[in-house]
Amino acid sequence: MAKPKLHQGTEAMGRHLTADVLVVGAGPAGASAAAWAARDGRDVLLIDMAPFPRDKTCGDGLTPRALAELDRLGLSDWVREHPVTHGLHAFGWGHDQRLPWPDGGSFPKYGSVITRAELDHRLVRHAEDCGARTLLGVHATGVRGDSGRIASVELRSPTGDSVAEVSVRTVLVADGVRSKFGTLLGRRWHRDSVYGTAMRAFMRVEQQHDWLIAHLALPYSEGETFPGYGWVFPLGESGGHHQLKGSGPLVNVGVMAYAAKGHELNSGLRPHLDRYVAEVRDSLGLSGEIMLAKSALLPLGGAVSNVAGQNWMLIGDAAGCVNPFTGEGIDYALETGRLAAEHLDEHDHSATWPHRLNYEYGPMFAATRRFARGFFKPKVMNGFGQTAIRSQRGMNTGLRLIANLIDPADKDLSARLAKLGGAFAQHRATRKPFLTSPTDIANTPEALCNQN
Ligand SMILES: Cc1cc2nc3c(=O)[nH]c(=O)nc-3n(C[C@H](O)[C@H](O)[C@H](O)COP(=O)(O)OP(=O)(O)OC[C@H]3O[C@@H](n4cnc5c(N)ncnc54)[C@H](O)[C@@H]3O)c2cc1C
Repeated sequence: MAKPKLHQGTEAMGRHLTADVLVVGAGPAGASAAAWAARDGRDVLLIDMAPFPRDKTCGDGLTPRALAELDRLGLSDWVREHPVTHGLHAFGWGHDQRLPWPDGGSFPKYGSVITRAELDHRLVRHAEDCGARTLLGVHATGVRGDSGRIASVELRSPTGDSVAEVSVRTVLVADGVRSKFGTLLGRRWHRDSVYGTAMRAFMRVEQQHDWLIAHLALPYSEGETFPGYGWVFPLGESGGHHQLKGSGPLVNVGVMAYAAKGHELNSGLRPHLDRYVAEVRDSLGLSGEIMLAKSALLPLGGAVSNVAGQNWMLIGDAAGCVNPFTGEGIDYALETGRLAAEHLDEHDHSATWPHRLNYEYGPMFAATRRFARGFFKPKVMNGFGQTAIRSQRGMNTGLRLIANLIDPADKDLSARLAKLGGAFAQHRATRKPFLTSPTDIANTPEALCNQN
């Protein structure tokens, strides 16, 4: 595939720009927020430090929850041009189970897999179609304001020599896992709660599958079990990525491990990925070399505080909106983009946005965070996993719970029990997802204090 022409956006860099809503970061969270805000008739500027298409380290798996959001945005016909997945095929402890995506809830009964190079570029184009202006290849590097409100955001070109100032009413911060811009505003990520570290790569495969494949109970060191899982997700023929060599069907292959401060992995992820690929290469028909292996951190389960100020809100990974058990976050990124757009008429987001996030995701994130922290200890994992993987019914219910395929509107028994368990876990959590505890210093950056 030839190198695509890079998209720099619809707006030219100028010294003084204005926007009713400035969105920093054009991944799924930012592009979704920009599309929803522009649909409501707002003047939106969406910026990203990368020109598009750009690679993003990810497993590229889209759950039914993500597809429901893409459908809401009006992109389901486009999604259907890509591979469809029927559910999860889980392997471990000498057994395997096919777990179809759950029936009867509020989400579609299928998923998909699309490279982030392709998905994110399509979302940026969609935001433009909805009326958002875009400026790609510029960094948000600073803020000016007073009394805690952002008045303008400073943008710089990659070389740092061209500087622009954007006067804003509201800023949506969608700058991903490390969220440097969010940190400048006071965001804090609490890594003493569980977090993830994952490595993805691409490979060719002899025959395309239509299930997400996950392997638990991978070997680690000295007879221990790897505290995470390996995956192989089907990508179809091209994958929409110009750096991939060869021809034939592609898969995204990777490993994810769980960690917490003081419980880090005993090595980098590359040896674990190599070992996993060696183990499944023949049985899954993987062929050729491992391409574009890259790793990144995952902020799990809302373990972030100071997620909003008077006229700014964090969304997506920046707010720690990643499923604590599976590590998927594209769905939450798309959702939080839509939810934040609903709050844009408010005068002050400092209290309303953390509470909205806590209401939407707090119970499930608190419960799954606790479960992941316990489950991925080798002894617990082996004892529980060996029993669970034999039970199709238990695993089906488990998939619905851990993949959070439960909607507030769902009223069936497992949905009710999950909500009850979530409320209990949230009540017991020492650190409530998204909420700022008295020990977190809510530091208003100097640039936002009164300047006279
Ligand atoms: C290895 C791995 C595998 C994963 N697999 C899956 C999976 O299979 N399914 C799933 O649902 N999730 C998966 N995830 C999680 C998923 O990738 C994230 O949850 C998702 O990308 C979050 O989207 P976002 O829009 O919040 O952030 P991002 O997609 O990270 O987008 C942030 C954007 O902000 C831009 N940016 C950053 N700083 C600035 C700045 N100062 N100025 C301008 N622009 C800026 C960046 O260039 C980037 O484009 C995986 C993550 C990893 C690491």
